[in-house]
Amino acid sequence: LVPILLHYFVYRKATPTAQPTFLLIGPSGGGKTAFLTLTERKAVAQTHTSTAPLTVEVTLPDGYTPNSSAFRSPGDPAFERARRFLLVDTPGHGKLRRFATARLANPANVRGIIFVVDAAFVAEEPGLNATAEYLHDVLLALQKRSSSTKTTKGPKEIPVLIAANKLDLFTALPPHLVKLQLEKAINQVRKSRAKGLRDSGAALAEGDEGLDEEREWLGEGGEGDFDFTQMEEVGTAVSVLGGNLIGGKGSDAKAWLEWIAEQL
Ligand code: GDP
Repeated sequence: LVPILLHYFVYRKATPTAQPTFLLIGPSGGGKTAFLTLTERKAVAQTHTSTAPLTVEVTLPDGYTPNSSAFRSPGDPAFERARRFLLVDTPGHGKLRRFATARLANPANVRGIIFVVDAAFVAEEPGLNATAEYLHDVLLALQKRSSSTKTTKGPKEIPVLIAANKLDLFTALPPHLVKLQLEKAINQVRKSRAKGLRDSGAALAEGDEGLDEEREWLGEGGEGDFDFTQMEEVGTAVSVLGGNLIGGKGSDAKAWLEWIAEQL
């Protein structure tokens, strides 16, 4: 018993208090790494290899007030504590996405998801479709999480920020079009996924449990098209906000940092 108790106390001590965490997700090349370097880097909390997520502890820059500390002033220890959070950079490369999805299945302390999008990449069909597929899967994972925790005290809300990055490029779509195009493309993704399920279902034995069309359908059913407001039903508010991390007249990440501050 003694070693067990000892282990318990050592482990408890070594485990940092639950720090608010944001996951950086999105296709490679969107700007996740650039996003990390933008925020003030305090310490690398975990060693980084190219196949594992990188976690860094960052502090909200001056001028942004965490929502929970709206009535406190800078210098107040509680205010300073509330400005700190963890950013987890998940590898965007196809095969490495399981890290992102694993984290979504068990999102302890996750205050929000930042899905970084190259707003010029999504102006063309191949980039748009690749991005929409990834985003569809992230949103579906959140929806499944929400419906599987209905029995407990109710799922925690996890908002999603779609950071429309690289607005300094003249080929970039403005945020409202990034939003519309992604909604349209996700609508297509869910249609073709449902068709794929039906087609493969035809080959399966009747009553096969692996086939659950309803569970795999993102957002509202019926004839209507997909839009992001449908995610509110499962506790996920989706915001599409623009900015750029490099280029142009310097970086502009104001809208994103404000969004983070609102979740803290
Ligand atoms: P990641 O794969 O999502 O981590 O993307 P990176 O952060 O590595 O960025 C991919 C490329 O896009 C790099 O060459 C960055 O320099 C570039 N990049 C990132 N943000 C911006 C931006 O706001 N504007 C422009 N023009 N390029 C950017």
